[in-house]
Amino acid sequence: MRFLPIFLNLAGKRCLVIGGGPVAARKAATLLRAGGTVTVLAPELGAAVAELLAQGRLAHCRKIFEPSDLAGFHLVVAASDQPQVNALAAEAAEARGIPVNVVDRPELCSFVFPAIVDRSPLLVAVSSGGAAPVLARLLRDRLERMLPAGYGALAELAGRFRARVKASLPQPARRRRFWERVLAGPVAQLVLAGRVPEAELHLEHAIQAEKREQDTGGNGFVFLVGAGPGDPDLLTLGGLRAIQEADVVVYDRLVSPEIMDLVRKDADRIYAGKEASRHTLPQDRINALLVKLAREGKRVVRLKGGDPFIFGRGGEEIDTLLEEGIPFQVVPGITAAAGCAAYAGIPLTHRDYAQSVSFVTGHLKEGESADLDWEHLARPRQTLVIYMGLKGLARICAQLMAHGLAPETPAALIEQGTTHRQRLVVGTVRDLPERVAKAGIGAPTLVIVGEVVNLHRKLAWFRGTPPAGADPTSPEA
Ligand code: SAH
Repeated sequence: MRFLPIFLNLAGKRCLVIGGGPVAARKAATLLRAGGTVTVLAPELGAAVAELLAQGRLAHCRKIFEPSDLAGFHLVVAASDQPQVNALAAEAAEARGIPVNVVDRPELCSFVFPAIVDRSPLLVAVSSGGAAPVLARLLRDRLERMLPAGYGALAELAGRFRARVKASLPQPARRRRFWERVLAGPVAQLVLAGRVPEAELHLEHAIQAEKREQDTGGNGFVFLVGAGPGDPDLLTLGGLRAIQEADVVVYDRLVSPEIMDLVRKDADRIYAGKEASRHTLPQDRINALLVKLAREGKRVVRLKGGDPFIFGRGGEEIDTLLEEGIPFQVVPGITAAAGCAAYAGIPLTHRDYAQSVSFVTGHLKEGESADLDWEHLARPRQTLVIYMGLKGLARICAQLMAHGLAPETPAALIEQGTTHRQRLVVGTVRDLPERVAKAGIGAPTLVIVGEVVNLHRKLAWFRGTPPAGADPTSPEA
């Protein structure tokens, strides 16, 4: 940024314009519009300045500029046709700490005039920092056509109600949403149609209705959003919208940093991370937290890895919301099985190899072996996807073989699937645990068992990081 765009309060401030030609007249007029008190210093006046003088809108000082003329001024514009006079004025103003603009000499300016779209009190200022004034003006013209004339009246109306709304709706999040609705809804349409009194009435009602909602704890809402397995490209449009409109996001350990980067910048973030054995927030505390936040009138996003309804306890969280009468919406996500399989080049079903696919949890309690229907899972011509299966991998593979699955059945483990940290370990049900142990793998990981695993050799397209000390491509080795 070459210049900092700021808006200067010139009301009643003394401004000096050096020069009496048409450019000086334009600058003087701009300063007058902003409420400045203008003196034009020049030996001669052109017609435009003379007219402003005749209207009594500015003062005239008939002389050649000297640095001592700056005394008592808050702002200087050097617009004379004498370059050395302008340069002298710039130097003198700079020395006295007075903001100065020299027409057509950006390098001598401590401030520049932007091109302005004036919908007072709403102002749009466009500047190229003196580099391409014509470009700035072209852009201004486009904005000028885009912004309805009534925007000024709308901003003015908002300004008049601002303090009232603040007093009635003290919660910042609720107040922001209220204004967003008002400024994009019927109130705005009425103002733009020139029907300001009706708009005011509408706004009065809206404030009262919103206040009632607030006092009865209404308007809070929970979005249960699936963030997908990691790659932010796999977030749904609905999920993106929810996290960009959220007041608060309660998120899990599995939600990738890249996705958290997309959350609205001033939303609160609450970590509710969960690991197999170490719960950062116990489930009932999370449920209660969602209720509490919604009761405060907030737009809450409960953001979970993958899909909320697949090993995500989404159902339990909704149960609590239902009991407490909190409105909610579920935004599904791409579950780890779908994401990891796609990024590993492993179709979960295939007409030749697998007619069905099962998603199972490998998070089995120690010493329990009858917790899954092993007989069913060990049958051929299907694909088995095991979530949370890293710790129990050896036992899972042993159970599958014990129940009749061929030890040579291909099996793969995908670490941090769909992210640029993705690693793939491929083997068979017999040797996968050993290969995984050698590769030094960490959570989250997904295990896929079935003939379809072999297809990755042909179909893999995504380049993650190959695991150290393991051959990622050859199941037979
Ligand atoms: N609701 C999530 C699953 C939560 S259970 C979903 O639909 O995907 C957590 C398990 O999901 C992890 O232990 C792991 O098995 C799997 N998982 C989630 N993201 C993963 C990823 N990027 N790579 C590999 N496995 C992942």
